[in-house]
This record gives sequence, C-alpha cells and structure tokens, in this order.
Amino acid sequence: MSESTIASASGTTAVVLEAEALTKHFPVRRAAREVVKGTARTVHAVEQVTLRLRRGRVTALVGESGSGKSTVARLLAQLYPRTSGEIRLHGEPVTVRGGRKFRAYSKKVQLIFQDPFASLNPVHTVRYHLGRALKIHGNGGRNRAELETALRELLTRVSLTPPERYLDKFPHELSGGQRQRVAIARALGADPDALLADEPVSMLDVSIRLGVLNLLRDLKERLQLAILYITHDIASARYFADETLVMYAGRIVEGGDSETLTQHPAHPYTRLLIDSAPDPDRGAHENDLPEKVDSLAALGKDNARAEPPSLIDPPAGCRFHPRCPQAMARCRTEVPPRFDIGDGAGHWAACWLYAVDDPARESAGEPAGEPVS
Ligand code: SF4
Repeated sequence: MSESTIASASGTTAVVLEAEALTKHFPVRRAAREVVKGTARTVHAVEQVTLRLRRGRVTALVGESGSGKSTVARLLAQLYPRTSGEIRLHGEPVTVRGGRKFRAYSKKVQLIFQDPFASLNPVHTVRYHLGRALKIHGNGGRNRAELETALRELLTRVSLTPPERYLDKFPHELSGGQRQRVAIARALGADPDALLADEPVSMLDVSIRLGVLNLLRDLKERLQLAILYITHDIASARYFADETLVMYAGRIVEGGDSETLTQHPAHPYTRLLIDSAPDPDRGAHENDLPEKVDSLAALGKDNARAEPPSLIDPPAGCRFHPRCPQAMARCRTEVPPRFDIGDGAGHWAACWLYAVDDPARESAGEPAGEPVS
C-alpha cells in the first residue's frame, strides 16, 4: 500500500485543489570532495503528500518548524517545481513554469505570506499594490472609475474602512494587522478559488491574530474559498479549520476533522504537539514547555526532548521513531500506512499502533484499525 496520506475528512463539497503523492527533494550544494567522489546529498523536504482543499472549507496543515509545510504551500502555488507527484486544479493536472500559464494558475490559486511587511513593496501605496493585482488578473474594470470602485470594494471586503483612509497609505504607515489585511485584499484581487495562507498570523501581535483569522473565516463563508491554513499552532487550527493535517519531517502523519483530531489525537507526535501547546485550563505553571517536556520524560517519554531528524538523512521506517515513546521494532524499518481510527469522519493516523496485527494493541483489548486505501 502507498504511504500517501489523504488529506481530507469525508465531505461532499467540491475539491478545488489537490495534491497526489507530492514529493520535493532539494539537492544540497556539493563540496569539492563530494564532486570528486560523485556523491550527492539531498534534502527530503516533502515526501508523498496527498491532500485535498475543498470549496468553502479550511484545511489546517500543522507542524513544527522545518517539517515541510511551507514547502507544500510553495509547491501548490507552483513556485517550486516538484520532484514527483501530481497537482490538480478542479480535477485537471497542472504543471506551470512561469509565463502566461503561471499567471492563469495564480489567478485561481493565491499565496499569502507570513510576513506582510516583506510581501509589500515599501515604496508603493496600497492603491498601487491592489490596483496592480486587479489589472494583472483582468479585474480592474474598463476605466478609472471602475478601477476605483474595485479598489474600494477590496478594502471593504477586508474590513479596512472607510477605504479612502487606507488607499494612499504606504506599508510603513499601517499596523501589522492592517498590512496583512492589505496582503489578503491583494490576493482577493485575483478573484481566486483557493487561498494558501502560510502562517498568516504568526508575525502579528496576539491581540490582532483573532481578527485576521475571523476575516479569513468570513471570506471562506462568503466567497466559498478553499483555504489551506499553515501553522505551528494546533490550538488555532482547532479554532479556525474544518479539518486538520499534522505534518512531521516531510510526511503527513495524521488527519481528520479538527475537533476530533485535537480532542482525541491518535498519533504519538500529535499528542506531543497538543501536550506542548499552551492550554488556558492548565494554568501558567503547567503551560511552561520545559516543565511539560519534563512531565513527558517522567512518563518514560525521554525522547520528547529530542530534535526533529535531519531531512538529508531521515530515519528509515517511521520518521518519528527516534522520538517516539511507543516505537516498536517494525517502526524502524517499515513506513506506516495510514489506518482509519474509526472515531470520527475521516480520522486516520499513519502509525503502526493502529495496525490490525499489532500485538500491543490486541493485548490491550483495543479495536484494531483498518488500513485505508
Ligand atoms: Fe511511534 Fe511507531 Fe507509531 Fe511511528 S509508527 S509514531 S514510531 S508507534
């Protein structure tokens, strides 16, 4: 069975953008010694990732830094060529390498970056940024008056009102939240079907994150956008996303509807992520990460302190096995397929604990999962 991980919980809404067995390897620049020996090293950044973004739904892709989630977004945006796998837009396979084809693709699939200040040109006004996006994608109207109307509508859509207060401002005259709203408005200028939001609130003050997430949720509902929400914060995924995928060291290891996955995490890595996330119900002392890791260690989870593996030479079998408190012999050699957890629509985990023939699970009297094709 393929190790592919299907991203979607069951749902009947139309698939807008999908990736099938998406893989990206980056060659590492070779030292002279390696050139002489003819050896080459490769970063295995994304491995066999399959996901589906549906109309009017938010899919969160959660993982720690370096897990490959931003690379997935750039592959889906066709900013990086993929090593293998397929990307389909409205069911049609697409591969673009710049030029007109890229422009046509980016009209349908827009990427929002983490740092709104870096993504806006400091020498141009809001009017310039939004007007350019509207004109490039053919949404600027037939004359100046129609362009002005479209500009005002864009700003109103992202709640920067009254629009005339913002149109002629430069990025440095705006707050971080306002800049990210302008970046979102610029993406909407293309009138896209899918938004890829790469950590869209992680550089904003905590006090304004919720406002930007609520804006994205509102856009999802009103415009029926398919949104990929990339984050390292699993708590925000629970709040904001309809379904959640968890990524570790280049692979997606668990997926399902956000409520089920965060309330009943199945994969040991997801449990570690949730245990490490701040929880208002636990109190300040318990939320301290080193304390939390210590408590995991006290439970025999000594490897909780370990670093994620090198993606140049990733561990064989399950990539989480060097850190996993429940690792078994087969975890070190065999890549786990995904198994249906059976507790919610589409909830699955790529973990041998859920294999039908897993002796530990059978002796504990737990129901065994079925591999999902
Ligand atoms: Fe741990 Fe094995 Fe499951 Fe990987 S497959 S998470 S090593 S139990």
